[in-house]
Amino acid sequence: MPTTATKRRYSASDVAKAQFNKAVAYLDLRDDMVEYLMTPKRELIVHFPVIMDDGKVKMFTGYRVHHNTVKGPTKGGIRYHPDVTLDEVRALAMWMTWKCSLMNLPYGGAKGGVQVDPKLLTKNELRRLTRRYATEISILISPEGDVPAPDVGTNPEVMAWIMDTYSMHRGYSTPAVVTGKPISIGGSQGRIEATGTGVMVTTTEAMRHMRMSPSDTCVAVQGFGNVGSVAALRMWEAGCKVVGLSDVNGGIYNRRGLNVRDVLQHQKERATISDYPDADQITNNELLACDCDVLIPAALEGVVDELIAPNVKARLIAEGANGPCTTEGEAILLEKGATFIPDILCNAGGVTVSYFEWVQDLQGFFWTEPEINDRLRRLMIENFHAVWETALEKRIDMRTAAYTLAISRVVEAIDVRGIYP
Ligand code: NAD
Repeated sequence: MPTTATKRRYSASDVAKAQFNKAVAYLDLRDDMVEYLMTPKRELIVHFPVIMDDGKVKMFTGYRVHHNTVKGPTKGGIRYHPDVTLDEVRALAMWMTWKCSLMNLPYGGAKGGVQVDPKLLTKNELRRLTRRYATEISILISPEGDVPAPDVGTNPEVMAWIMDTYSMHRGYSTPAVVTGKPISIGGSQGRIEATGTGVMVTTTEAMRHMRMSPSDTCVAVQGFGNVGSVAALRMWEAGCKVVGLSDVNGGIYNRRGLNVRDVLQHQKERATISDYPDADQITNNELLACDCDVLIPAALEGVVDELIAPNVKARLIAEGANGPCTTEGEAILLEKGATFIPDILCNAGGVTVSYFEWVQDLQGFFWTEPEINDRLRRLMIENFHAVWETALEKRIDMRTAAYTLAISRVVEAIDVRGIYP
């Protein structure tokens, strides 16, 4: 293989399918429709060369998967991580279909990724890799067909390179081909903070329903990247006590509460938070099991498994990351009485403002930050309530409620369109 991917001990696709099957039990669907809904529409695997700074050529492997295109162009991020596999990208694409449907966005689900550790590449190598990968998947992406966005290991600069590469091939600037771009080339106000802000909006809404006052609520956040750092900051600004934080190097814990702004400054200076001085150093597993009321896993999938779940003390789990809990881990926590804000709802702020960005790019007319944040807040609260009320009404957990809503909207679109030819 062109790159070596670490073998994962669980399959993200299996988790996605188990969640889907659990919800299907509450819907009156024919078996052939269930099979259609589970099956990805297309999967592209690309092996491509990149000239490294020492002049040698290195081969890389990338993917782009479209899960379902019935409700519109596909939408989904691009991940740069050494553990990226087709199985993972397939699961992430399926989750995007349900997330977009749940939020009533006119999109289907997609995801992409390259097996690479971006931290090991120079900026020039990363730019060449991105331009080549963008060219390889350009048979799939377009403003009308498939619109990528950032995910783990990618950022606005990577999106700018993809937009530029696509635009060079077309001969004119095409900002609407990606979202999460810098503002200067058609990015949206509020996009960088959107996912973390949405996590805070849904979490504080759940806390209100669960009668948890912010000043008496301790929060722990795993992952201090785009999602985790903003979610932690917003929860701290909302008056909660943020007691635990972590990144890939490890975690920090202070039961009196951390000053999140200060931790952000430390990260800026030291590129990690794990050596932040005013706290105890803990491992990522200890972070997940620390004394807190709200746990926000906002790093990678599969971290809350059957080994960790029995030790988790939080009674509200807000899934900032995609698929952070395994099927077994979730079952243990539900049994213990925990409430979940499922990923397809909790972290949907990112794709929602991505949708706003795409609409603004297509119109060439841009909105102010307060307009973006008001619309985001309204949609997050509206959809939170739809899920909360469905869960109460059908006496099911929040994830299953979210899935039943999302799946039935896709089924309705299939029924209305009919199956070609
Ligand atoms: P990011 O690359 O900005 O940050 C990831 C964070 O996780 C970093 O702090 C990193 O140090 C940490 N991390 C990496 N590996 C880890 C490990 N093994 N243990 C503990 N921490 C680890 O990524 P992001 O954009 O914040 O995405 C995080 C999660 O949120 C992913 O599951 C992603 O799919 C999901 N998500 C992101 C967005 C978005 O808008 N960026 C939107 C929806 C969902």
